[in-house]
Amino acid sequence: MAKTPLTGGCACQGVRYRIEADARSVTNCHCEPCRRITGHFMAATAAPASAVIFDADASLRWYDSTPTVQYGFCSTCGATLFWRASDKPDHLSITAGTLDTPTGLKTNLAIFTDEASDYHRLDDAIETVGGDRNLGVSDG
Ligand SMILES: [Zn+2]
Ligand SMILES: [Zn+2]
Repeated sequence: MAKTPLTGGCACQGVRYRIEADARSVTNCHCEPCRRITGHFMAATAAPASAVIFDADASLRWYDSTPTVQYGFCSTCGATLFWRASDKPDHLSITAGTLDTPTGLKTNLAIFTDEASDYHRLDDAIETVGGDRNLGVSDG
């Protein structure tokens, strides 16, 4: 069980946040946009956006991946921090590697595994869901 609030931030501390709600288990998203943004894949927890409080956000910027999907990153150190979609206004995906440890979280799902690059060795121990964007499982 994760402690509440979980806290986290980017490498330069320009972005610091706390999650004032139970954070979801970690999902690995292997979709091509997440692969290119992160350089590998996105491992993210998630919480209601309204429960994520910023103690620092001066360097937080949002990149429009599509007209409805944005990635949040630090403009100083380049960290990838967040994913959000306009059709899920109170959802925020938070990259698990930016959380302060211990997180108490587990990784329990991998999505869009068919979009992982060919060098990637997927973890057979993690339940996988194939890629079909029309299912609406693109969950950062
Ligand atoms: Zn930073
Ligand atoms: Zn993705």
